[in-house]
Amino acid sequence: MNFGYRDTCLDHETGPRHPESPDRLRAIRRKLKDRYGVRYVEADPAERARILAVHTEAYVDELEAFCESGGGNWDADTVAGEGTWDAALSSAGLAEWAAHEALDGSSGRDTPFSLGRPPGHHAVADDAMGFCFFNNAAVAAQAVLDDELAERVAIFDWDVHHGNGTQDIFYDRGDVFYVSIHEQGLYPGTGKIEEIGTGDGEGTTLNIPFPPGTDTGGYLAALDTVIGPALQAFDPDLVLISAGFDAHEHDPISRMRVSTEGYGHMADRMRSIADDADAALGFVLEGGYGLDTLSESVRTIHEVFDGYQPSGGEADIAESAQNVLDDVCAQPFDGL
Ligand code: ZN
Repeated sequence: MNFGYRDTCLDHETGPRHPESPDRLRAIRRKLKDRYGVRYVEADPAERARILAVHTEAYVDELEAFCESGGGNWDADTVAGEGTWDAALSSAGLAEWAAHEALDGSSGRDTPFSLGRPPGHHAVADDAMGFCFFNNAAVAAQAVLDDELAERVAIFDWDVHHGNGTQDIFYDRGDVFYVSIHEQGLYPGTGKIEEIGTGDGEGTTLNIPFPPGTDTGGYLAALDTVIGPALQAFDPDLVLISAGFDAHEHDPISRMRVSTEGYGHMADRMRSIADDADAALGFVLEGGYGLDTLSESVRTIHEVFDGYQPSGGEADIAESAQNVLDDVCAQPFDGL
């Protein structure tokens, strides 16, 4: 794969006990070392205008001043330092690169994956939250829409938390389809089945709040029976994956049970879904807090795009998770 990466993303320092640490990127790069077909691209940081296309000027100015003055706790768990401003611009720029690269035709072994931090999917238009400052996937989606490289973008968010920021930014928009699988009851508490969008965006927000303990089979069933058909009906030009790895069975902060191979299967399924929709495909890193599970999962996805067939992959779903999918299908979505 082609990995977008900049060292400036390491300069976002969160303190010694914060799970969202620079070691996350170091661990991934260590695990990818010497793997065949790994290429790094040092994409440019996002320009301010790109950030302002999805965030308010007052918030962006406030964050810049906050970082310039040394930073501190923005809220209880969102920490900024002096280096956070440049890291956040870089992280957004890397996501933007992934979107452009995918639409430029990079696919197969050249599929783009942006390895940026801070993550983005909790950031709303006028605020940082949940370790996130700029909504990287939203900046990327908006950039390719503004450049008229795409008419419709789908964002599939498999991070274990609901991407409230991404949902919120595009909630009334018909040109961005936001789909999330997340663990019921986890931070930030949004992402109910009934949240399906409003106005022009009605039917272009799709939430699958799975019960704790849902495993790879449940995720694959959701892809096969709900997400695939819904994206087919939406007909996107680009599919961005908000790729968090905190639903891993050994991640320290969730109770979901996706295996390392499971992430390979999900990537493989999404490749087929994007192909069937004739859409470009790119990955944007979100969360994932076990250094081994995060880095091994990213490596597995790289290997899948390099020709590896992960083992297993049956869409065996538990009844409690199937009930959630049934409730999703009862909502007025095209294609379901
Ligand atoms: Zn997360």
